[in-house]
Amino acid sequence: KIGWILVGASTVAREWMVDAIRQQGDAEVLAVVSRDAARGAAFAEQFGIAASYTDLDAALAHPGADAVYISTTNEWHMAQTLQAARAGKHVLCEKPLALNLDDARRMVDGCAEAGVVLGINHHLRNAASHGKVRELIRAGEIGQPLYCRVLHANNLPQHLRGWRLDAPESGGVTLDMFVHDVDTLRFLLDAEPRHVTACATSGGMTVAGLEEGLMAVIEFDNGTLVQVHDAFNAPHSLSGVEIIGTKGTIFATGVMTQRPVGSITLTRDSGKVDIPVGHENLYVRSVRAFQRAMRGEGQPAATGDDGMRGWPPHWRHSRPAAATSA
Ligand code: NDP
Repeated sequence: KIGWILVGASTVAREWMVDAIRQQGDAEVLAVVSRDAARGAAFAEQFGIAASYTDLDAALAHPGADAVYISTTNEWHMAQTLQAARAGKHVLCEKPLALNLDDARRMVDGCAEAGVVLGINHHLRNAASHGKVRELIRAGEIGQPLYCRVLHANNLPQHLRGWRLDAPESGGVTLDMFVHDVDTLRFLLDAEPRHVTACATSGGMTVAGLEEGLMAVIEFDNGTLVQVHDAFNAPHSLSGVEIIGTKGTIFATGVMTQRPVGSITLTRDSGKVDIPVGHENLYVRSVRAFQRAMRGEGQPAATGDDGMRGWPPHWRHSRPAAATSA
């Protein structure tokens, strides 16, 4: 069995990843690491995990440990990834890979030097819905993609209204949600972002200066223009991706989510058709692909390189004057 160490007694581990690892059949969760001994012990007890640690090195020395899943807050990802890699453990790290491009590159290089697999848990690539959209585009069903709109603004759930709203190093909605959009678009369009222009708001739900809402226009190197909207403070807004091509349009509704849901329509001159989707838990797929990569079969769904390329070059970022002066 593949032995996993969870680094971070986090919500995403609690809600999705313990179960996703256990569903593999050939994997087990050996231990959890938390900076807080009581939180780690409570997490271990809740999920029937045999060990909890406060010291990462001690956890990495746990007998049978092969891989770590890192879901601490963003500023810890780099140091913990490099520490695990030096100990010879494969690393599945949460997004954003790091706080900036240089750190992301250090992580990719560090894992390569240590000969371990680095994967990023960009869950949306693992959604059957997004996989189907990509398949349709690749099959030429809409011709050449010209424009795309990403609706990814929502209402940050009450239980997540902590560090995302008040810790400057969290990166606000940019590092929380926008990174998912860029990764998903790279996956759907098979193209790289060339230019990004964005405006952000802050100071309503977040502390002043920390982005809570963002609208961006991204130009991809295949010529596709994309509009993106991310927000923490937009209750009752729609979730979806629309891709408009020379021959048709794909609309995927309700797909910018952690859950295996959503529907797809394809509209062309001949009319509008519903496209069937075989939904499956996104996180189960993520762990499955990662474990295969550990065995030398293919790559993680999102590689370290993908995590790094999610940082678009020529990033031009301007905030409204009110947010800048606050
Ligand atoms: P949480 O706030 O739930 O957990 C992050 C860390 O905060 C934990 O590792 C823990 O640190 C600490 N912590 C947990 N509960 C408490 C508490 N009650 N009081 C104080 N500290 C606490 O964050 P999320 O699970 O939402 O996010 C963790 C990471 O995962 C982030 O990098 C985020 O971007 C990413 N994420 C990815 C998702 C995806 O779908 N790919 C979805 C959600 C998040 P410690 O254990 O060291 O004590």
